[in-house]
Amino acid sequence: MADNYQASCACGNIHFVLDGEPRVTINCHCTNCRKMNGSAFSTYSVFNKEDLRITEGADDIQSARMGEHGTKHFCRHCGTPLYGLHERAADICMVVLGAIDTGGAILPIANTFCRSKLPWAFELDKMIKHELNMLG
Ligand SMILES: [Zn+2]
Ligand SMILES: [Zn+2]
Repeated sequence: MADNYQASCACGNIHFVLDGEPRVTINCHCTNCRKMNGSAFSTYSVFNKEDLRITEGADDIQSARMGEHGTKHFCRHCGTPLYGLHERAADICMVVLGAIDTGGAILPIANTFCRSKLPWAFELDKMIKHELNMLG
């Protein structure tokens, strides 16, 4: 048990660890991911499913169908998306990078479904930056 990465939901009821390194990390710009995560694009790290270990709050994890063969897993209290599973790729889990407490240490290497990306998705660096909110 390597505990390489700690992960949790926003309300803190659910904690899980990842005992390995991600196989790959990608930004997905598909319409489905954007809707399901309520975000401009979704960043996922693909881990071996056996490396995913729920340490707290397993009963609070709710799942929903995602397409024909996938399921999305999220916190039933705060709604934080946690990871996705797919019946046709049963040996992997796609962990939503935002759930990983030290996600900044993981570098995405590719963007997928760029044909449906938002027109400004690659322009983030050109936008005004505030250290906190717009008032701070
Ligand atoms: Zn939660
Ligand atoms: Zn997607």
